[in-house]
Amino acid sequence: MTKCKLEYIWLDGYEPTQSLRSKTNIVEDFSGKVEDAPMWGFDGSSTEQAPGGSSDCLLKPVYVCPDPDRIGTGFLVMCEVLNHDGSAHASNGRSTIDDDDDDFWFGFEQEYTIWDPETNLPIGFPAEGYPGPQGPYYCSVGAGKAVGREIVEEHLELCLEAGLNVEGINAEVMMGQWEYQIFAKGAAEAGDQIWVARYLLERTAEKYGMCINWHPKPVKGDWNGSGMHANFSNTLLRTAGSKEVFEAVCQAFEPRIKEHIDVYGADNDQRLTGLHETQSIDKFSYGVSDRGASIRIPIFTVEHDWNGYLEDRRPASNADPYKVASVIIETVKSAKTS
Ligand code: ADP
Ligand code: MN
Ligand code: MN
Ligand code: MN
Repeated sequence: MTKCKLEYIWLDGYEPTQSLRSKTNIVEDFSGKVEDAPMWGFDGSSTEQAPGGSSDCLLKPVYVCPDPDRIGTGFLVMCEVLNHDGSAHASNGRSTIDDDDDDFWFGFEQEYTIWDPETNLPIGFPAEGYPGPQGPYYCSVGAGKAVGREIVEEHLELCLEAGLNVEGINAEVMMGQWEYQIFAKGAAEAGDQIWVARYLLERTAEKYGMCINWHPKPVKGDWNGSGMHANFSNTLLRTAGSKEVFEAVCQAFEPRIKEHIDVYGADNDQRLTGLHETQSIDKFSYGVSDRGASIRIPIFTVEHDWNGYLEDRRPASNADPYKVASVIIETVKSAKTS
């Protein structure tokens, strides 16, 4: 008999930005399969998810992977939050995803800033004044340019050990800002993996006494904000072979700016200004290879005779990937493509 440590992870009910919560469940001889992870519960009155008088919320396991910090006996268990009657909780974005056949593929580019709680500034920033202006930091190497690499490397290793489908990492435009990309075939799983990777990142940074700042504009002024570009495709886009189909899908986004921006992250107006490789928050545009557009048509798509994917550049680093995927799927399905 082996005592296994199952770390149940969920999203709290704070508005406008939900945070990760987790606690450990000891289970004997756990198989590692999601269907064998028992339902569990927590006190919703401590997470803004239930009133004190009726505080039980349920945790429904939806994604399981090995816990790389508890090798052999540990597992990470991503959960949906349900009300005590078994219905989806209002904070449960995952349950709103309409992609039963996993036809939608998502690749999220998660940007973030490693944050020093002592200075309340990005790691590497001097306590007074600013580092040199942006330019040398993106994809950099060397002290004074790439700061926090030991955390980033350890996080990458943990993600791979957990079996997450990380496709790459890079240093970003602001000092102390980094990115990882995760791709999955299936919108819910892409969201699960992004959240588990966020969890591992916070836990890794914790060991170094650092925080992860998910805010889309952590430093005001001439410093890049943080996004979470959503690259997406479905069978239609992967096999369209037609510029018109891509344009019809892009045009379906135009009248739905509000529906999208509502779930693309709090304070995104500070980031989507029209500067720093962004489109303004109240405008919509699309274009081939256009990094100033709301939706970029990657050159990959054009070079493959209009078979491929699209990149919505608007989601912020603090957005919930479940809700982002959910609204994108809704809009793509509403497109008039025939
Ligand atoms: P960039 O920084 O140039 O915008 P990245 O290389 O950081 O691009 O990210 C591109 C993302 O697009 C990757 O996460 C990749 O998995 C994703 N992607 C590639 N092809 C598809 C596809 N057919 N459907 C959905 N996402 C895709
Ligand atoms: Mn990228
Ligand atoms: Mn980036
Ligand atoms: Mn991108």
